[in-house]
Amino acid sequence: LLQLSAPLFLLGMMYREVKQALTNMERLFGLLDERQDVQDSPDARQLVTSQPQVRFEMVQFGYDPRRQILHDVDFEIPAGGTVAVVGHSGCGKSTLARLLYRFYDVDGGRITIGGHDLRQLTQASVRSAIAIVPQDTVLFNDSIYYNILYGKPSASREDVEAAARAAHIHDFVQSLPDGYETPVGERGLKLSGGEKQRVAIARAILKNPSILIFDEATSALDSQSERAIQAELERIQLGRTTLVIAHRLSTVMNADQILVMNDGRIVERGSHPQLLALGGQYAQMWRLQQQRAEQAATEQHDR
Ligand code: ATP
Repeated sequence: LLQLSAPLFLLGMMYREVKQALTNMERLFGLLDERQDVQDSPDARQLVTSQPQVRFEMVQFGYDPRRQILHDVDFEIPAGGTVAVVGHSGCGKSTLARLLYRFYDVDGGRITIGGHDLRQLTQASVRSAIAIVPQDTVLFNDSIYYNILYGKPSASREDVEAAARAAHIHDFVQSLPDGYETPVGERGLKLSGGEKQRVAIARAILKNPSILIFDEATSALDSQSERAIQAELERIQLGRTTLVIAHRLSTVMNADQILVMNDGRIVERGSHPQLLALGGQYAQMWRLQQQRAEQAATEQHDR
């Protein structure tokens, strides 16, 4: 019995770890419930392009057939370019990211990567080409080393440290008594919002993806951390096809194109100056954010 139970015990442990990893992946997107599994088509191909163009062509989508969320969503991210999406909470921004990662299939229209319909590509090749820096990074109850390595489990120690350096978290990690072996997550060291985001950036750098999805944190970081993270992101965006889901307009100013969404439709599109000149929803959002920033600055000054 003893001989049999040891491997079974190990297998059980492995199963739990794998399941935990998958669960965490799903938690990245808040997808724990009712996710229907997307299947590879029998003739699915590998995605091979290194700088793919991404297109959403008249995409229709709803999580529930009775409630359509996206209507006629049509845009292109040029190879190596950046598109940013802004809009009120619940208008469908994160849904775009979930569809691009193919957690769901579209109900109408299509999404293409490098000219290929997403449904004709293997999920494994699509997911290995995409890295996501999510709103709220889920840390595993494991060492900080493992948490970065997760971006590319086959990476060497040098690669992990280089990614951490590029994400400006290496010095912080080195300053901890247990360095890279420090346990983090719910049962370990609690990292700040900015530190967690840097771990996510390090993971993404290690993965070296051709497509990057950045879902900006809704919770504001202090402006210094925000600027630092912004600069790191701009560096890793270079040469990668990038979709930015933005909650602060300061993040989107340098995007090639900004999409403004309202109730699952794109209602305005253009560069920052073009949208300001248009004097529509974007210009209004911009004025509001400027006012809020000025107010915050005055309050800070008065204190
Ligand atoms: P935020 O800025 O608050 O993150 P968002 O623009 O990213 O919002 P989405 O997360 O894309 O919005 O959600 C769009 C709509 O889809 C919302 O009305 C939401 O209630 C609904 N929705 C999101 N996820 C699911 C789901 N798993 N099942 C059913 N409805 C969902």
